[in-house]
Amino acid sequence: MRKSNIQLFVTRRCQLRCTYCPVEKREADMSPATARCAVDFLLQRRSPEARVDFGGGEPLLNFPVVREAAEYAEARARKLGKRLSFYMVTNAIELDAGKLAWLSKRRFSLELSLDGSRRDHNLQKPAADPGLDPYAATRGGVERALAAGLDCVVVAVADPSRAGNLARNFEHLLGLGARRFDLSYSVGSLWRPEDEAVFFSQVRSIVRRHRAELRRGVIGLGNLGGRVEPTVLNAELMVDTDGSLHLMSEWLFETTRPTGARPFPLGRVQDRPDINAIDWGRFHCYYTLVRMHGQDERVRRVILNNIDFGTKVGAFFAGLDRELHGSR
Ligand code: SF4
Repeated sequence: MRKSNIQLFVTRRCQLRCTYCPVEKREADMSPATARCAVDFLLQRRSPEARVDFGGGEPLLNFPVVREAAEYAEARARKLGKRLSFYMVTNAIELDAGKLAWLSKRRFSLELSLDGSRRDHNLQKPAADPGLDPYAATRGGVERALAAGLDCVVVAVADPSRAGNLARNFEHLLGLGARRFDLSYSVGSLWRPEDEAVFFSQVRSIVRRHRAELRRGVIGLGNLGGRVEPTVLNAELMVDTDGSLHLMSEWLFETTRPTGARPFPLGRVQDRPDINAIDWGRFHCYYTLVRMHGQDERVRRVILNNIDFGTKVGAFFAGLDRELHGSR
């Protein structure tokens, strides 16, 4: 874990119940005091830059704590002489003009979760309240964010049963004005060889159709550089609403009751642990998942399957990147 970012789970509440969502939903919000401890924890890192990521749950449902954490981080980073940036993973439903102005002033980068057409989006991302149309609510927020000129990446997730719609959904998102994307697959699902083949052939068809725009950078695919694969072995750190520290990969299976204890407890930000002493990688993620879920045959199969598929996805996109841009 050498990256200079951590993700703050500012809430475990969400308006949606995505079929592939690994997050346990409950009425739990991070307090302002815990958020400040999390910022202090991050800024101890011996690095000239730091990035505070906001997630959850839907972070905009606890906007006062997002604001508190970001403004506190700005003041601290200024004192410490560090370059600071912000990132947020959001379903965009709560993005109104006031929040957009505040986020824009701080140059937030936004990861917006919109899976494609109304049909696919609403099948994969049903609302907790049946009165809410998730597609309409998210589309409105995405359009407002794009119009406000924020740095936005639209993440389209495909589950194995809808991987065959990925190219069509991509065209749909282009039609809304989005130009930067991450094409993602649902973690926690079992990807059979035939599903994997469909996923890859859909991406190939997107690249065939938009090769020139991808080459010129008019359309951006985050997968072509920097995306962590396999996602299931993501060694970035997250801070839960109560201040406890976790590996991101641990969180990806949290709705499955573990059969073993966490092998590397990391403590709580309130106890001022030293971030520089945490230098973990994929091995720690793998060992953590095996220790926590290895006795559960079904989960073990999914973990191994997702490691295998994620590795192939990483290699596939690295190959596409070379094909489009040479060795950069
Ligand atoms: S919007 Fe995000 S946090 Fe909410 S249910 Fe979907 S994946 Fe989970």
